[in-house]
Amino acid sequence: MNATNRQVLLASRPEGAVTRANFRIADAPRPTPQEGEVLVRNEWLSLDPYMRGRMSDAKSYVPPVQIGEVMVGQTVGRVVESRDARLQAGDRVLTQLGWQLYGVAKAGALVKIDATRIPASYYLGVVGMPGMTAWFGLNEIGKPRRDETFVVSAASGAVGSVAGQLAKLAGCRVVGIAGGREKCDYVERELGFDACIDHKAGDWQTALREACPGGIDIDFENVGGGVLDAVLRIMNPFSRVIVCGLVAEYNGPYAHAGLRSVLVNRIRMQGMIVFDWKDRYHEAVAALRRHVEAGELKYRESIVQGLDNAPQGLIDLLAGRNFGKQLVKLA
Ligand code: NDP
Repeated sequence: MNATNRQVLLASRPEGAVTRANFRIADAPRPTPQEGEVLVRNEWLSLDPYMRGRMSDAKSYVPPVQIGEVMVGQTVGRVVESRDARLQAGDRVLTQLGWQLYGVAKAGALVKIDATRIPASYYLGVVGMPGMTAWFGLNEIGKPRRDETFVVSAASGAVGSVAGQLAKLAGCRVVGIAGGREKCDYVERELGFDACIDHKAGDWQTALREACPGGIDIDFENVGGGVLDAVLRIMNPFSRVIVCGLVAEYNGPYAHAGLRSVLVNRIRMQGMIVFDWKDRYHEAVAALRRHVEAGELKYRESIVQGLDNAPQGLIDLLAGRNFGKQLVKLA
C-alpha cells in the first residue's frame, strides 16, 4: 500500500487575483488515526469562492489559512480505517479535511452521509453548504411572498441556481443574472426562471429593467460590484437585499454608486453567513433532499479531475469560468 499523501498548501498570499504561484503541491506521509479518530480517503473536494478570503489575512469572520498549511475545504470521502465505533471502513463522510487525498479526523467531527438515493457529491452542493445558504438566505432574510419579483445573480451557480428555484416554488417571478448566453439559456430553459439577463451583453441594465417591469422586491446578491449597483437602481420601496456574496469584489474594494437607492427606497440590506444557522442545518438538508428527490430542484456540476488541478479550478471559479457547482474529483 502506498503510504504517501498528496496535499495542496498555501504558498503565498494573493495580491489581487489568485495565481498558481500562490499554491504548492507536496507529498507527505499518510497520517495514522489514533483512538477516536478515522482515516479518510477524500473523493470529492468542493471549491468555493470563500476560499479567496481564507487565502488573505484581512480581518474576516474566520481566521485565514497560514502559509505552508493545507488549503481549507470541505470534502466527501470514504473511511479507510476507523478507531471509533461510530464509523466503519467504507462509510461515506462529509469532512473539513481540505485539499489533500487523505486526512485524519475525530469521528465526532464527521457527518455520515447516505449516498443511496442521491450522489455523494450533492452533499457539497445542492444538499450541502451552498444549498443551505440559498435556503436560509431566502426563507430567513428574503421571506418571499407570492407574485413578488425576485432577482438572483450568479444564477447558474451553486447557490444562485437553488435560490432562484426555491423562490419560484414560493410563487415569485424570478429573474436571474448570469455571465453569457449559454448560462442564461440553461437558467431559463432548465431551471425554469422567468428570465435571465446576460451581464456580459451590451446594455444589459436596460434588459434587466425590462425583465422587471414592476421593479424588484428581493435581490439575492451573490456578485456585488456593478451587478449590485444596477439591481439597486430598480429596487422597489421597502424591498430587501440578501447580501450573500460579493465575488466580483473579492480581489479588491469596489466603490458602490447605487447606495443612494438604499436611502431613497428605504431598502433593507442584510448580510448573512450560512453557519449562523448551524443548529438548524438538518431542517434545510431535509427540505432540499425532498425537493431534489421530487425532481423540483435541478442541479449542475462543473468537475475538475485530480488534486493537482485544484488550484486552476479555483482560479477559474473566481473568474466565473465554472458552469455549476465547482468540484474536484479526487478518486
Ligand atoms: P458560483 O457557482 O455561483 O460561482 C461563482 C459565480 O460568480 C461565477 O460562475 C460567475 O457567474 C459569478 N460572477 C459574477 N461576476 C463575477 C466576477 N467579476 N468574477 C468572478 N465571478 C463572477 O459560486 P457559489 O454559488 O459557490 O457562490 C455564489 C456566491 O455566494 C459567492 O459570492 C459566495 O462567496 C457566496 N456564498 C456565501 C455564503 C454565505 O454563507 N454567505 C456561503 C456560500 C457562498 P456568472 O458568469 O454567471 O456571472
